[in-house]
Amino acid sequence: MRITLLFLVLGFIPLFPRLSQAVTNVFHDPGIALVLFSAWGLTAVLIFARLQEFRCPRCGRTFFKESWRVGLFSSRCVHCGLRKYAKSGEAHEDR
Ligand SMILES: [Zn+2]
Repeated sequence: MRITLLFLVLGFIPLFPRLSQAVTNVFHDPGIALVLFSAWGLTAVLIFARLQEFRCPRCGRTFFKESWRVGLFSSRCVHCGLRKYAKSGEAHEDR
């Protein structure tokens, strides 16, 4: 999901103009670019919101968000230090 978000954010500048032009040519309606833009932005916002609320399997708190700070590419839980892809029962590791 983080890769998808990264693709949507970083790919917007190089891909969106070409994609919207192609879609406009297919549907012969310039308004379709606005629909595409809205869908693109809404998808990015929804993925970001879902990642923010992802819960750590060990401590049950948000994995990437600590109060106001959000580290979507953190490799550890910001609360208990559980590594990504680790089993929830693993002992605490060094931080
Ligand atoms: Zn945790």
